[in-house]
Formats: sequence, structure tokens, C-alpha cells
Amino acid sequence: MWSTSLARASISLRSNTTKTCFGYSKIHRDTCLQLHSSASAMAALVIAETDPTRSQLQGSSLAAITATSQMIAKEEPQDNEIHLLMAGFSSDSEAVKKAKGIQQISKIYVVPSPNEATEKLFKYGVAEWMAPCIQYLQDKYKFSHIVAGASTFGKNIMPRVAASLEVSQISDITGVEGSDVFIRPIYAGNALSKVKCTDPVKVVTVRGTAFEKAVLKEAQNLPVEELSFTPETNASKCVKWLSEEVSQSERPDLTSARVVISGGRGLKSADNFKILEALADKLGAAIGASRAAVDAGFCPNEMQVGQTGKAVAPELYIAVGISGAIQHLAGMKDSKVIVAINKDPDAPIFQVADYGLVADLFEAVPEMTKLLDQNAKTAVHS
Ligand SMILES: Cc1cc2nc3c(=O)[nH]c(=O)nc-3n(C[C@H](O)[C@H](O)[C@H](O)COP(=O)(O)OP(=O)(O)OC[C@H]3O[C@@H](n4cnc5c(N)ncnc54)[C@H](O)[C@@H]3O)c2cc1C
Repeated sequence: MWSTSLARASISLRSNTTKTCFGYSKIHRDTCLQLHSSASAMAALVIAETDPTRSQLQGSSLAAITATSQMIAKEEPQDNEIHLLMAGFSSDSEAVKKAKGIQQISKIYVVPSPNEATEKLFKYGVAEWMAPCIQYLQDKYKFSHIVAGASTFGKNIMPRVAASLEVSQISDITGVEGSDVFIRPIYAGNALSKVKCTDPVKVVTVRGTAFEKAVLKEAQNLPVEELSFTPETNASKCVKWLSEEVSQSERPDLTSARVVISGGRGLKSADNFKILEALADKLGAAIGASRAAVDAGFCPNEMQVGQTGKAVAPELYIAVGISGAIQHLAGMKDSKVIVAINKDPDAPIFQVADYGLVADLFEAVPEMTKLLDQNAKTAVHS
């Protein structure tokens, strides 16, 4: 059992400084369809992340909802609720309508954006803007847990939330053993630690691939509380959203794709990633990369799989020209079937692979693509 007291001590030091910057002079609630649940029941708050079109919740948030339902199921009384914060949305937004179909949710808070500039701050989950909003809700409703996906969005916001509440953050959990006991990987996934959190509110991020996604059904008649919110902290006044550069891709999202093909330094150049693209086209796969491939400039940062990249757990993961360093394995070893192509028979990737091909990737990958093509043609003609 690992204690969180050390982490708390260091966070408290930082939050003492941060706290002087926080203030909530312009916060008020406009409408409230339902004030409180029963007096004895508590609620957990999940911070919603939506897709780039802002029309639906990301898989990371749906997994966070499942994890949260396990946390509150283990807490007394049993009638605890999960509330969802959808910052930057109004109550009639498409994403809010869809979120009402999540059966585990009992209430939604929406925070409409007063103008385009603030919309961007909510949309991109700017921590200096989101954290005061979450702290305001926490001061008001005293949630037992505040939970988000361990995606870039959650990793950006939640440390600031934890620091401003002067509690520890429990990061990237992969299991729930109680309302305050969590499992999380350490040493790049080589060991699992069981963490008991003694803080009054548990600030938790959830590894999306470790929990089933909450299922969307028919929209329920849920209470939606609309908040009018303009943080006036020094930090939030200083921050402005400028721009983003996103590479456009027709491929499935890396973190939710059924099949992922990742390339490593063995591909030798950005141009050579085209041979992976041809195979990915045949399999409807997303393309990932090792950090060495990203650092060498073969592909953009958002394609990185691993400890400091994305965690994926597809049905099929094909590692091409990747040695299998522990930091890479940390992001993909939960894949259902792992295939490795490497010319070095001693490459560590073969220790986790279900199927290994010791071969030159520049011969093996085009050959696989050709065979898939032939099979597809045979299937059409027969
Ligand atoms: C704090 C920290 C965090 C990190 N985070 C990550 C992370 O998130 N993700 C990540 O991936 N790494 C991460 N790393 C880096 C990691 O340690 C490795 O350096 C990296 O994963 C190696 O990438 P690679 O396997 O592509 O390259 P290499 O280790 O150089 O392996 C290349 C492989 O390609 C094979 N090969 C070469 N040519 C061919 C060919 N023609 N045909 C077939 N096979 C061929 C070689 O045999 C070799 O096994 C991190 C490191 C640190 C210290």
C-alpha cells in the first residue's frame, strides 16, 4: 500500500502560492432545475471532454464515468450520484443532449461561453480557465471525487485542480478497489501500485483503455444546471488562446482504433511511413509511432504511443521496426493481439508479441499489403 502523503506535501507548497491568485467575484448561478440530491448522498464530478467537433463525449470521458461509478458503488450510502461538467456548452447543445443518454449520470452542469474567446478557452481545456470553474463547483457541492480521463485534456487540467484544492492527484488509474483505493501503474507499467487516498476529495485521472466505456442510450430527463462563469484570477486573466495546428487525417482515432500499426526508428525516414499507410488502408487501421520515430521527425508528436505518448489497447497492434523499450510497451501492452516485425530476433518486442516475424520490414510489410489485396480480390470474385 502506498501512501499519498509525500505527494500531498509537495503539492501543498505550490498551492499556497497559487491560492493567492484565486478569486471568484463574477461567479453566479443562473438557473437550477434541481438544487441538491438527498441530503445524505454525495456526488462525484466527472469533467467532460468532447471530440473536436464538440458534438459528443470522447471515449476517455466515457471510461472515466465507468471508473467513477465503480468508486461510488463502493461508498456508503449507495445512492451516490455522478454529475457531469460540460464547460463551454449551453443546455441545448447537441453534446449535452447526447450526454443525457449516459445512464450512470444524474445531473449535468453546463457553462455557456459568453463569447468566442472564452469558447476557445473551454474548448481547448485551458487549465487556468477550467480549474477555477471546477473549484467553484467543488466549493459549492463538496464532491467526493473529481474525475477526468488521463488524456492530454485531463492531464492538463487536473494537476491545477488538485493543487488549488490542496490535495494529491491520483494519476492514470487502471483499477478501483474502493472509494479511496486505486490501482495505478508505476515504472513505465512494470509494477502496479495500490494507492489509498486520504484526502477529503479524490482528484483522479483514469486510463481510458483500462475501463469499459459508458454506453449511450436514449436521452433521460436529467436536470441541467446552467452556470454563468467568468474566472477573475490573475492566472486566468493572463491566458489567451492563440491557435492550434492539427494534422488532418481520415484515419480512425489512435486511442479508439480497432487496429493500430506503429512504426519505429527501423523505418529510417518519414517517407518510408508510406508503406505502413498502404497496409493501414487495407486494415482500416490508425497509425502510431515510437518516440524515437517522433524525435527523428518521421511523424508528428500526436502519433506517439507509450509512457509519454498515448495509451492504446486495440484488438490488433502491429509494431514495425520497433525494439520494444519499456516506455513503448507501457502504451500498448494491453492490446489484445500483438504482432511484431523486426529483423533482430533478440528485440525485446518479441517477448510481448503474440506473433513475431523476424524479417526485413521493407520486404515483409509490402508483401503483407499485397497478400491482403489479393485476398480481397479473391473474396470479391468468389
Ligand atoms: C522518460 C522516457 C519516456 C519515454 N517515452 C516513450 C514513449 O512514450 N514511447 C516510446 O516509443 N518511447 C519512449 N521512450 C523512448 C524509449 O526508451 C526508446 O528509445 C524508443 O521506444 C525506441 O524507439 P524504437 O523502438 O523505434 O527505436 P530503436 O530502439 O532504435 O529500435 C529500432 C528497431 O528497428 C529494428 N529495425 C531496424 N531496421 C529494420 C528493418 N529494416 N526491418 C525490421 N526491423 C528493423 C531494429 O532491430 C530495432 O529493434 C521514452 C524514454 C524515456 C527515457
